Amino acid sequence: MILLRFLALLAAIALANTASAQPLAKQLFGAQKESSQQKSAAFGSYSRGCAAGSVQLPETGPTWQAMRLSRNRNWGHPVAIDYVQDLSRIAAKQPGWNGLYIGDISQPRGGPMTSGHRSHQLGLDIDIWMLPGDNMRLSRKARENISSISLRRSNGAFVNGNWTKQHHAVLRAAAKDKRVARIFVFPGAKVEMCKNETGNRAYLRKIRPWWGHHYHFHVRLKCPRGSGGCVNQDPPPKGDGCAEAQQWVNNILNPPPPDPNAPAPKKRREYRLADLPQQCVQVLQSN
Ligand SMILES: [Zn+2]
Repeated sequence: MILLRFLALLAAIALANTASAQPLAKQLFGAQKESSQQKSAAFGSYSRGCAAGSVQLPETGPTWQAMRLSRNRNWGHPVAIDYVQDLSRIAAKQPGWNGLYIGDISQPRGGPMTSGHRSHQLGLDIDIWMLPGDNMRLSRKARENISSISLRRSNGAFVNGNWTKQHHAVLRAAAKDKRVARIFVFPGAKVEMCKNETGNRAYLRKIRPWWGHHYHFHVRLKCPRGSGGCVNQDPPPKGDGCAEAQQWVNNILNPPPPDPNAPAPKKRREYRLADLPQQCVQVLQSN
């Protein structure tokens, strides 16, 4: 069984090395069902890398539920799995919340995905649903069928009536955590938090306005200590970033005219295995 698996991988990698038929990295990583039996590590960057020795977020915890189990994306660095559990305990203390519904983290060995995300490749990105976690004993089927809720209005310029103080509190706790590098959420949510925050505003720096992100927010953790091959993103600009978020909102409400000199958007190339850090070959080969 192990030998067969090894031979299949050798074949896949041999193919990856011939110019004629190089499989896409997303096909190689998307086919992995289990994590690698290696020391936990992230290699590369959030949008071009892989993950060794990932652990699986348990499907059910007292204060969390992993959603959409059929996707098999509830794998991450142990630091990420601890973070989710810690944040879920804080969320569970909010009135009306019993915990968190957790969306995609990463594939068992990280890497590019066949659908959905460009990042989430290192086991350090986590999608957390905006739908307050209520039932903490959902069936597998319910986890496929339940939908999250959108919190936005006017294309993300404002929050809608689903936004609550509790969302603010959960996002604040999520961002204050030292393990977090940044959090992506739609611009109207950031501006709302900027308006209503009466305490220490330092954490707002990590809350970053972004497209989409109204059904879930996205937490990006820093490279964990001792992760030599992991590439951090530059830290967010200094300050609370509230003026920048307001500018996003202004641009949604009054889109600036297109710049006639803007370069044509580049088409993104799909990565082959050779485009990823070399350690990702071992991550694929490992048992
Ligand atoms: Zn995400």
